[in-house]
Amino acid sequence: MADLLTIEAALAAVLERARPLPSELVPLEHAAGRFLAEDARARVDLPPFASSAMDGYAVRAADTPGRLPVAFRIAAGRPAPDELAAGEAMAIATGGMVPGGADAVVPIEYVVENENDVEIDAAAESGRHVRPQGGDIRSGDVVLAAGLRLTPARLGALAAAGVGEVRCPRRARAAVLTTGTELRAVGERLEPGQIYESNGPMLAALLSGAGADVERLTPVADDPSTHRRAIARALESDLAVTSGGVSVGPHDLVRGVERELGVEEVFWGVAMRPGKPLSFGVHGETLVFGLPGNPVSALVGAELFVRPALQALQGDPNPALPWREGTLAVAVRRNAARAELLRSRSSVVDGAVSLEPVSGQESHMIARAATADALVHVPRGEGELAAGESVRYLAIA
Ligand code: AMP
Ligand code: MG
Repeated sequence: MADLLTIEAALAAVLERARPLPSELVPLEHAAGRFLAEDARARVDLPPFASSAMDGYAVRAADTPGRLPVAFRIAAGRPAPDELAAGEAMAIATGGMVPGGADAVVPIEYVVENENDVEIDAAAESGRHVRPQGGDIRSGDVVLAAGLRLTPARLGALAAAGVGEVRCPRRARAAVLTTGTELRAVGERLEPGQIYESNGPMLAALLSGAGADVERLTPVADDPSTHRRAIARALESDLAVTSGGVSVGPHDLVRGVERELGVEEVFWGVAMRPGKPLSFGVHGETLVFGLPGNPVSALVGAELFVRPALQALQGDPNPALPWREGTLAVAVRRNAARAELLRSRSSVVDGAVSLEPVSGQESHMIARAATADALVHVPRGEGELAAGESVRYLAIA
């Protein structure tokens, strides 16, 4: 592991190879969180007709002030059968269709309502309280541009504009394969030397939470032929993620088997702690990540590289890591050889985010890491960063 890539260089190498997947039409009810592959255009004017912004009376502004007979009562969804005649008013509810002939709505608060007529004692202004047809967006115009992620507000906008389905890159199929003879599934009895398999559930949750369609393969022992079968299967996905077996021990088989199966390794090793012996390669269109087995190393590798790759496959035009700024609550020692990612807890102090590393920073300590909500980036270098120094961090909760 002579030349370790920096985190930035490694991520750039990953993203260079992560192109959006082919797109598909997606009904709105399944589109939350997806990215638009193309512009979405309004199918109707929004609002589709001139509508009232208030409960009140639709009038011709020129007829006010005055005492006007009430010709009809318009509700939302129940328009008037005729135009408004000169010298008359129509009661109208919010969202009601402003009748032809009317050009203003006088809110109910400003009138005196009698049984058959309404008294309006101030002049209404033409256009007042009328939402013009197409005032939000016009039919045919772009409601949302390609590349946007479909948030709740955006789904609402699409529905309002009559767009029932959108084109999005399809969801990535991700395979998760954990390796290690010592691994047992939760619920089984642990024999001496065995541990519970925790990377599978963790990685599956991370991937499906980020929108992938996840297949969890049965964990494999450190044996070449079962590795071969399982990795070959994982390579059928868009994203193959393994854990364990990527280091330099005699039982670390993943990279060798991948090489045999035709995976072209792009890099192995990133100048970071935890998570250094991470491998990345490609097999046809499949992106192949070999995460180290230590649970915190696997977590950090997945957050730093796998998640952005998945985002890019699924159409995120800007899958860069969403670093935020905060300040250190305590001094931390720097590492001369590698950037460190300290599992930390964030809190807001005097309006700024303060970050305190959790106790227990070793790469097997997933229970300690689980109490953190931030990964603080400590750039490699000499000495220490003092309390109060600004640092960048990733939110991981
Ligand atoms: P490896 O990268 O295979 O050398 O594994 C490094 C450490 O992580 C060892 O202590 C393994 O027992 C542990 N480990 C590997 N895979 C998992 C897993 N899926 N869940 C929990 N711990 C694991
Ligand atoms: Mg192992």
